[in-house]
Amino acid sequence: MFRILSFGKTDRGLRRSNNEDVFFVKPESGFFLVADGMGGAAAGELASRIFSETTMEVFSTADLSQSDPVKRVHQSFVSANARILKHTDEIPEHKGMGCTAELMAFSGDKFILGHMGDSRTYRFKNGQLKQLSKDHSLVQEQVDKGLITPEEARKHPMKNVISRAVGVDETPALDLVRGNLSPGDLFLLCSDGLTDMVEDADILAVLASTALLAQKAEKLVALARAGGGRDNITVVLIEIV
Ligand code: CA
Repeated sequence: MFRILSFGKTDRGLRRSNNEDVFFVKPESGFFLVADGMGGAAAGELASRIFSETTMEVFSTADLSQSDPVKRVHQSFVSANARILKHTDEIPEHKGMGCTAELMAFSGDKFILGHMGDSRTYRFKNGQLKQLSKDHSLVQEQVDKGLITPEEARKHPMKNVISRAVGVDETPALDLVRGNLSPGDLFLLCSDGLTDMVEDADILAVLASTALLAQKAEKLVALARAGGGRDNITVVLIEIV
C-alpha cells in the first residue's frame, strides 16, 4: 500500500471579483477534485459546489454496487450533471451554468481520473511532466485537426471556449483515464487559471524542485498571479510515497 500526501490551494486571482473554483483534498475520502464553475457569478460558484457535494455523497454511500472507484467516479459526474440540469430547469436565469471537473480516485495500485472540460490533470514522474487529460475545447479540436499549433492555441482569442462541461448536456461524454501508481508519482489537478498563465515548462520546474508539497502549490499559484492572474487559480497536488 502507498501513502498519499496531498495539498490544495485556491486563489481568486487578480481580476475576478469572486472565486468559482472548488477543490477537495481529504485522502481518507478516497478522492480528490478540482471543479471550475461557469455561467456567471452566483451560478458558476453553485455549479462547482454541486459537483463537489455530489461527489462527497457518492463516495460516502455504503451502496456496494457502487463500491468500485470507477463506478463512483462515473456516478459522481452523472449525478452532478443531472442535478445542475434540474437546477437550471427550475431557475431559468441560471441557464448556461455548469463546471469543468477533474476527479481522481485511487484503488490499490491504480488511479482513475474522470475529466470533463478544460481543467487539467498532469503527472510528474521521473523528471517528466505528462498531461493526462485532454482539453475539451474548441482550440484543442483545431489542434487535433492540424489547423493550428499548440502555441497558437495558447494565444487564441477563443481559447476559453469549451466543448464539454458538467451540467450542459443530458448525456455528457466523460473521459476516464486509468493508470498504475508508483512511489514518486506526483499528480497535479488544476483549473485553467493556472495553465493559461503558466507554461508547462515552468510547472515542471516547480514540481521537480525539492520544496514541500505545500510550497510547490503556493509557488504555482504565485506564478499564475505574476503571469497576470486573469482567472481563479486552483491547484491540487497528490504525491504517492
Ligand atoms: Ca477558469
